[in-house]
Amino acid sequence: MNALWVTHVMPDYESARDTFSWRRERSRLAGLPDGGINIGYEAVDRHLREGHGERVALCCVARDGSVRTVTFARLAAESSRFAHVLDSLGLKRGERVFTLLGRRSELYSTVLGTLRAGRVLCPLFAAFGPEPVALRMELGNARALVTTRDLYERKVAPVRSRLPHLRHVMLLDPGADPPPDTLSFPALTAAAPDAYTVSPTDPAEPALLHFTSGTTGTPKGAVHVHEAVLAHHVTAAYALDLHEGDVFWCTADPGWVTGMSYGIIAPLTHGVTTVVDEGEFAPGRWYGILADQHVTVWYTAPTALRMLMRAAPRGEPTPAARHDLSSLRFVASVGEPLHPGAVHWGREALGLPVHDTWWQTETGAIMIANFAADPVQPGSMGRPIPGVEAAVLACGEDGRAAIIDGHVQILQEPGSEGELALRAGWPSMFRGYLHEPHRYEGCFADGWYLTGDLVSRHTGGWYWFVGRADDVIKSAGHLIGPFEVESALMEHPAVAEAGVIGRPDPLAGAIVKAFVVPLPEYPPDIELRHDVLAFARRRLGPAVAPREIEFVEDLPHTRSGRVMRRLLRARELGLPEGDVSTLETYRPAVTTEPSGKDP
Ligand code: ATP
Ligand code: MG
Repeated sequence: MNALWVTHVMPDYESARDTFSWRRERSRLAGLPDGGINIGYEAVDRHLREGHGERVALCCVARDGSVRTVTFARLAAESSRFAHVLDSLGLKRGERVFTLLGRRSELYSTVLGTLRAGRVLCPLFAAFGPEPVALRMELGNARALVTTRDLYERKVAPVRSRLPHLRHVMLLDPGADPPPDTLSFPALTAAAPDAYTVSPTDPAEPALLHFTSGTTGTPKGAVHVHEAVLAHHVTAAYALDLHEGDVFWCTADPGWVTGMSYGIIAPLTHGVTTVVDEGEFAPGRWYGILADQHVTVWYTAPTALRMLMRAAPRGEPTPAARHDLSSLRFVASVGEPLHPGAVHWGREALGLPVHDTWWQTETGAIMIANFAADPVQPGSMGRPIPGVEAAVLACGEDGRAAIIDGHVQILQEPGSEGELALRAGWPSMFRGYLHEPHRYEGCFADGWYLTGDLVSRHTGGWYWFVGRADDVIKSAGHLIGPFEVESALMEHPAVAEAGVIGRPDPLAGAIVKAFVVPLPEYPPDIELRHDVLAFARRRLGPAVAPREIEFVEDLPHTRSGRVMRRLLRARELGLPEGDVSTLETYRPAVTTEPSGKDP
C-alpha cells in the first residue's frame, strides 16, 4: 500500500464535529481572484495555478478495456475551448446548457466549460426516451444541448419542434452529412482558443439544475449554486476519505446528482484521478477496473452491490478473489438503504466494509455518513457530516412533520421515529424548485429543511432509515417502514430482492404486502411462500410481518436502481401509474466473465 495513504489521519467524529466551521473550511477552496467562487475554477484552474497541471485528472476506460488519460492541463484547455464556444454563440450568463451524454471525456469539458463560463448546466440521463428528454428541456428552458448524433436522432429530433428555445445543438460526431439545425462540437471547439479567464462569480449564482429521480412523483428541478462546491469538496474528504494521490471511481450515471457532485466535481477539486467508465455494467468488467486502475476509493450503490452479490452465489469463490483489490482502501454506497448483508458481503468479498451515506438531489452533497474514521454500523445511514445539523421531527396524521404555530417538535429520545430534518443553510442546499416556488417554501419550516424521509435516531447520534414518508404503511395503529420489512425478507436464503407496500384493508387500515423476487434456484411455490412468511413473522413479529407475499420475476426500479413502490402500489390497486419517465425498462444482464474485457 502506498505510504501516503497510511499517513492519513482522519479526525474522529466527535472532534471533527466540535471544531468544524464552514467559514474556516472555506480556506480549503482556492477562490476566484476577486473573492467569488466558481465550481469550474475549483475543479481545474486551481490545479494549474498550483503547478499541478500534469497530474492525471481522468482515466477513461473504453468499452474494449483500453485506457486513455487526460491531465488537468488538458481538461483546462478543452473546457476553455467550450467556454469560448458558449461566449461566441451568444448564450447569456445563467442560460442553460443541457448534456445528453454517457460517461466520456467530452462530458467533463462540456460541464466544466459551462460552469467556468457562468452558464448553468443540466445533465440528462442518456437512456431517457424522447418524452422525458423533451419534458425536462422544456421545463429547463434549454438554450444549448451537447449530445451525440445517434442520441440526437433517436431522442431529440422527434421532439425538437416542441423546443423553440433550444437554439444550439452541438453533436460530438456530426458525420459528413449532419442532421439539419445542428452544429459540430469538434469544429467549434477546434476553432476556439484554449485558455479562458473565469469571470467574477457570485457564490450564490446558479450553477446546476438537477431533476430528482421521480421515485415519489413527477421529477422536480432542483437549482444549485456555485458555493455548493465547498460542500462537495469537504464531504468528499470527510465521508469518502478522499485525499491527494487517490484514484477515485464513482459508478453513478452522470445524469444524476451523484454522477455530478461526486463523479465530476468533488474528485476534481481534490486534484485526484477519476475513473471514467465508458462501458456497461458487468461484474467481471467492474472487478477488472477496480484492480487494473488501482482504484483506492470506490463510491457505488446498493443496486450495483446487489448485482455483484448475485453474480457470486454463496459458497463459491467471489470474482473479487480472482482480482488484486489491494489498492482499495474505502468503499461507500448511496441511493437507497444499504442492507446489513451488503456491509458484511463487502468485508468478505472486497476485504472492506461498505460505508453507507445518505443525501438527496436537494441537499447537493452527502449529509449523513458512516465516517472513514469510525467503525461502520451495519444498517445505519450514519451520522451527520460536521457542519450539518440534523433532527428527528414528530409527525402528524399525514405522516409528515407536524407544524404547530409555525414550529416543529424535535424528538430527543433515542429510538424515536419521525421525519428527518436538516437545519437550513449548508452550502450545497438547493435554492429552488424550477417554476415551483410554493413547493420549495413548503419544504422548510421553523428554519429546518424537511426531507420527506422517515428515520429513527439511536444512541450516539446514529440515524436509521425507516422509509419515505409517502411509502410508510400504517397498519392497525403501527407505523411500518417498508425498508425494515424488506431487509428482514432479504435475509431469507431464497430471497434476491423484495418490495413492500401497504394494501388498504377495512379493518387494519392497511396490511403489509410483499413482492418477492426469489433466487433462480428456488421454485416460487406454496411451500416457499409459507417458509418466507414464517421466517418474516419470526424476525419481525406478526404486527409488522407481511400478510401477503407475491412472487415476481423482477421489481420496477427507477433508473437509479430504487424500487418504485408507488408503481407496485398503483398496479396492485389498479390506479393510474403516474409519471414513469424514470422507470427503468432495461436491466443490464449480469454476467460472470472474469476478464473485465467486455466486447
Ligand atoms: P423524488 O423526490 O422525485 O421522488 P428521489 O427522492 O428518488 O425522487 P433523489 O434525490 O435522487 O430522488 O433521491 C434521494 C432519496 O434517496 C432520499 O430522499 C432517500 O429516500 C433515498 N436515499 C438516498 N440515500 C439513501 C440511503 N443511504 N439510505 C436510504 N435511502 C437513501
Ligand atoms: Mg426526493
